[in-house]
Amino acid sequence: MSTISNEKYEAVIGLEVHAQLLTKSKAFAAVSPQYGSAPNTQITPLCLGHPGTLPVLNENLVRYTIKMGLATNCKVAEKSIFARKNYFYPDLPKGYQISQYETPICYDGFIDIELEEYTKRIGITRIHMEEDAGKSIHDQDPYHTLVDLNRAGTPLIEIVSEPDLRTPQEAYDYLKKIRQIVQYLEVCDGNMEEGSLRCDANVSIRLRGQKELGTRTELKNMNSFRNVERAITYEIERQIELVEAGGEVVQKTLLWDPNKLVTREMRSKEEAHDYRYFPEPDLPPIIIKQNTLDEIKSELPELPSVRFERFIKELGLSEDDAYILTETRPLADYFEACISILNEPKAVSNVILTEVLRILNNKSIEIKEFTISPERLTSLISLKQDDKISSSAMQTIFNEMLQKDEEPLKLAEELNLLQVSDSAFLEDIIDEIIQTNPDEVQRYKEGKKALMGFFIGQVMKQSKGKANPKLAKDIVTKKLENG
Ligand code: ADP
Ligand code: MG
Repeated sequence: MSTISNEKYEAVIGLEVHAQLLTKSKAFAAVSPQYGSAPNTQITPLCLGHPGTLPVLNENLVRYTIKMGLATNCKVAEKSIFARKNYFYPDLPKGYQISQYETPICYDGFIDIELEEYTKRIGITRIHMEEDAGKSIHDQDPYHTLVDLNRAGTPLIEIVSEPDLRTPQEAYDYLKKIRQIVQYLEVCDGNMEEGSLRCDANVSIRLRGQKELGTRTELKNMNSFRNVERAITYEIERQIELVEAGGEVVQKTLLWDPNKLVTREMRSKEEAHDYRYFPEPDLPPIIIKQNTLDEIKSELPELPSVRFERFIKELGLSEDDAYILTETRPLADYFEACISILNEPKAVSNVILTEVLRILNNKSIEIKEFTISPERLTSLISLKQDDKISSSAMQTIFNEMLQKDEEPLKLAEELNLLQVSDSAFLEDIIDEIIQTNPDEVQRYKEGKKALMGFFIGQVMKQSKGKANPKLAKDIVTKKLENG
């Protein structure tokens, strides 16, 4: 975006995020919404819209939604209802989606996003429950569009933000935070590439200082975090250029093209009344009693922001380290499993942040696929803490542990990496070094203390790197200063 337009205009962004819930069965039918099953195998007559079938509410759809609501500081409605959202599409045999319209189950919440320079509170307008449609497949048959209804009826929540976001970066961070929370709650796997987390972005621009919102466009089809950021950036620039050229933004739904990196028109934006929303007659209202709410509250895990603070305050980690360690719940759990065995938060965090994360990144795997258990990792770290191995030996043994399921101590022996902390042995070596280097000894005694490095280097050389450097230093000091 050019600087001039940046100063003149500000962008306004609101996100609608859909998260597929990890419930065992669909929203209103007793069949699993299993991902990757053969097409049209995870269906019941209800998913096909057969006449006479009736929806039965999956209680976990409600519970998961409330969890998300509580985690994002929302109010929970004592009474809310489902609504039918009517439209015609081949992957929607019922002719309507069950959703919520006027009374979402959760509303009026917020989350705080932490950007590099500032923290910002983003309002959550509402979180409502709905069911997914099926899938139209256009690329498998040259002549036909195929329909797979496995996804029809999969439970979703839609999380709608206030138009509080101002930059593509804020939108990106907000979405990351939403994903982090659904993953911590284990209500959604948060996979954007596979579509279990989807995001539509509403974008408008206005003159800086202007109160009213500009006309917005809605962007769809951004199946990665990068694409969300890119599409919004592109759209802001497009709108500014359009307005600067004397044009006017038209309310539209646009599709992001991740190959060409442009948005293109999908349809003119529908209005709510186009959907003919009306209360779902086949489902009773959802009534949430205080005891249910208390119960769900008590089931909430420690949320990422709370855990982050605790890692800093109670464990003494730096903000940066705590941030990375709490990024995902499994990683934070792994770290905590380690420190429950070896209560050395900093030493453990160092190894995880360097060695472990390096492997996860290189192999593109998650911590749950990582083969070194907290028990083995901490026994490696203990060897280092007890000065039995050097830092570089720790690295070597760590790499070896990835290949071999053996105890670190055994590997250290096998690789001949155990440090010698036997002072008699070291004293012999050091006596010899002192004898063969009289000049250095002389200069050291005259005050050239930097020569300590030279002596330790010699000890390391003579011991083939196995001397415990701390002990070696103690002995050298003792001999040179007192001897
Ligand atoms: P719809 O039902 O058409 O999707 P909503 O009013 O529910 O519309 O708003 C959807 C999203 O659009 C919300 O996240 C909201 O914050 C955002 N939004 C509304 N108006 C604007 C605007 N002028 N510019 C940017 N975002 C907007
Ligand atoms: Mg919308």
